[in-house]
Amino acid sequence: MNDFFVGIDLGGTRVKLGLMKEDALIDKKIIPALAQQGLAASLPVIKNDIESLLQANNIGKKRFKGIGFGFPGLVDPQSNKILSTNAKYDDALNMRVDDWVKENWNVDFFMDNDARLAAVGEWKFGAGKSTNDLVVMTIGTGIGTSVITEGKLLRGKHFQAGCLGGHISVVYNGRMCNCGNRGCVETYASTWALKERIEQHKNFDKSSLSNVPVIDFETLFTEADNNDALAIEFKNDCIELWSAAVVNLIHAYDPEVVVIGGGVMQRHEELIPLIKSKVHQHAWTPWGKVDIRASTLLADAGLYGAVYCLQHKI
Ligand SMILES: [Zn+2]
Repeated sequence: MNDFFVGIDLGGTRVKLGLMKEDALIDKKIIPALAQQGLAASLPVIKNDIESLLQANNIGKKRFKGIGFGFPGLVDPQSNKILSTNAKYDDALNMRVDDWVKENWNVDFFMDNDARLAAVGEWKFGAGKSTNDLVVMTIGTGIGTSVITEGKLLRGKHFQAGCLGGHISVVYNGRMCNCGNRGCVETYASTWALKERIEQHKNFDKSSLSNVPVIDFETLFTEADNNDALAIEFKNDCIELWSAAVVNLIHAYDPEVVVIGGGVMQRHEELIPLIKSKVHQHAWTPWGKVDIRASTLLADAGLYGAVYCLQHKI
């Protein structure tokens, strides 16, 4: 008889739930996130969706063994404490997700930073399988990063090592970020920042981006394809910013491979070669060239990582 697990990836825009049979993803659900309403408002919705995933697949209590949970903030996985949030689920600091799991299902539980779990997913099952020295950067509502070095998931003294690559400054005197720093790559080239920057641009009214229902990377790239000048400017700018962040991550962590994930990687055939050439031009790597790859698990990376960490207690 096989054991079943649920992986949860709590994003800023969407919540992903995956049902895993051992380490195979057999079913999933994607629901809109209630990041601004908070974690307390989100948990009852997530509970219902977990129940419906289990029911739809006829998984009874005996075969359901645990929940792995990725949270978009700093997390202490030893005590299951949420240590810090950044403009998403800000009520979560004093909440105990482990107690919620115990009360509802009484199964094993593991939680960590969402980007860290996505990195474990890529390392064990995805684009980083071939290496033990890996940096993963996920571009979404924010920009999450995580590091595997010498075969070990990097956590650091305060559980924040490798996680804050989105808050590496790429413009030292630039825009203020939610985190308190200036010029973070996330405050320029993540979905939330992109929308703000484009709407504030002096040429916004003249751009076709002023007519799209939602400004995100998908609409940005579509309008760039349609030769909208502002869209082309922002697209090129984002590629420069992501490349600068990758160079910084390479200088900090000495990886063999950098995996880039997030919805933008639906355009990986176009984007990866552009990022690669900029990074290879600027990164100091006398031993050779860091391989830069698109995520192969995309939105599922965090689900695989959450359940892997739960099963293996890494
Ligand atoms: Zn920041």
